[in-house]
Amino acid sequence: MATSNSANDINLQNLKVDESTMTKECDPQLASGEAFKLTEDQCAILSFDRFLADRYVAGTCSDPTCKYIDARGDQCDKCGKLINAVDLINPKCQICRNSPQIKKSDHLFLNLPKLSADVRSWFDKSSTHGHWTNTSVTITEAWLSEGLKPRCITRDLKWGTPVPLEGYTDKVFYVWFDAPIGYISITANYTDDWEMWWKQPDQVELFQFMAKDNVPFHSVIFPACLLGTEDNYTCVNHLAGIDYLNYEYAKFSKSRGIGVFGDNAQETGIPSDIWRFYLVSVRPETQ
Ligand SMILES: [Zn+2]
Ligand SMILES: [Zn+2]
Repeated sequence: MATSNSANDINLQNLKVDESTMTKECDPQLASGEAFKLTEDQCAILSFDRFLADRYVAGTCSDPTCKYIDARGDQCDKCGKLINAVDLINPKCQICRNSPQIKKSDHLFLNLPKLSADVRSWFDKSSTHGHWTNTSVTITEAWLSEGLKPRCITRDLKWGTPVPLEGYTDKVFYVWFDAPIGYISITANYTDDWEMWWKQPDQVELFQFMAKDNVPFHSVIFPACLLGTEDNYTCVNHLAGIDYLNYEYAKFSKSRGIGVFGDNAQETGIPSDIWRFYLVSVRPETQ
């Protein structure tokens, strides 16, 4: 057990570099007001006595029309729905392949139902005036018409941005709550005039590009946070959400070695601008 435990620690250490360095400066305002407390079950491995990150839990998607067998703890790659890890059917820890135990823990939730009317009227305006791909509109429309639900934004993990609220300081924020705040804090690290971009929505047009699985975080959850502050933040005007780029008709998979990755691209010696042009020209904009 000791060996696999230290292997986990190495993995978690790597993740820290990937996911939390962007968001050192969290705006506590964004976390206030529209969050409320509930208790949610989270997967935990009893033998390690700690909680598992969402991405380390996988199982069958609980949506009866989907039932994808390899859905992750926070999102299904097939139907795109955000899911709670505890709702996965037959969940497995991706590190040791055991079935995780469920433990109770207090968490903060975004009160999305309270913000849904604001998000709806903002989305109708933004998607009508701006350039939104059909994929972006369809996904957002599905979320809003299904009705927004409270969304858990804290995790019992050691890496990540610590929660600056009494009683929760031993927890960190869920990555898709704090990563978009990084767009703002990166600008603030670059210049004291960051508000020229982020607090002047009438003067600024914000463009964002992403694959479809990231659309709801940028078209619903983050705008809801920004609107919830009632502080005139710039919300996205143009959202280019696209389908997944396939490799020889299959999904890219680093673990299965399917696809061309950064190091392969570099080894070809083809200049990066040509790669960029090629990728932009083949990006799958329609389903
Ligand atoms: Zn699914
Ligand atoms: Zn495990």
